[in-house]
Amino acid sequence: MFYRLIVTEDHRDFLRFFWYRNSDPNEELIEYRMKVHVFGNTPSPAVAMYGSQKTVENANVGGCLSQSPLPITQKQPIIIDRKSHAAILLVRHYHERVQHQGRVFTEAALRSHGFWIIGALKIINSVLHKCVICRKLRRPSSQQIMTDLPADRVVPSPPFTIVGVDVFGPWNIVARRTRGGLAHSKRWAVLFSCLTSRAIHIAVIEELSSSTFINALA
Ligand SMILES: [Zn+2]
Repeated sequence: MFYRLIVTEDHRDFLRFFWYRNSDPNEELIEYRMKVHVFGNTPSPAVAMYGSQKTVENANVGGCLSQSPLPITQKQPIIIDRKSHAAILLVRHYHERVQHQGRVFTEAALRSHGFWIIGALKIINSVLHKCVICRKLRRPSSQQIMTDLPADRVVPSPPFTIVGVDVFGPWNIVARRTRGGLAHSKRWAVLFSCLTSRAIHIAVIEELSSSTFINALA
């Protein structure tokens, strides 16, 4: 059995800790606040936070802001060593909270939530540099590699000396009238495009066969 004390509303910010949503390690980290204080729970993050806060208070950090209307978490932030693993986790967490914005936003988010990392800019830069989403968002856009036009396209020559060919269609057409109605048929078109002048010639063909194509060339 642990002795439990109710933590008043204005003190709950001191007893914050991170834990996975629904205790699932694959889920994102959520910031929780202890409503009760548990004693005898050796690895309790609340105890660690309380200890950190007490150390800060004893060191009298931010002491000149006692008249300020700012929340206590900003007037007396928790000091975190830049080289600690907690600093990396905090920077990552608040960097995601600000939707992968830059270092200024990330640092502001950390400060406004009551964390003061000594030399924060260095660790924030290093976390942002390794952030895959930021690398994707901020990298320069790709350029298409273009080659020179071939000689056939740029050396002047009589029209239709060198052509590109394509066939398109079919269309349904009325071929002839019958006693009962109409006889339908299909038609395609062969497109010749001159490579130098870009002039085009279209020949209609009646079926997709080699002989009609050779006829279209004539
Ligand atoms: Zn990022």
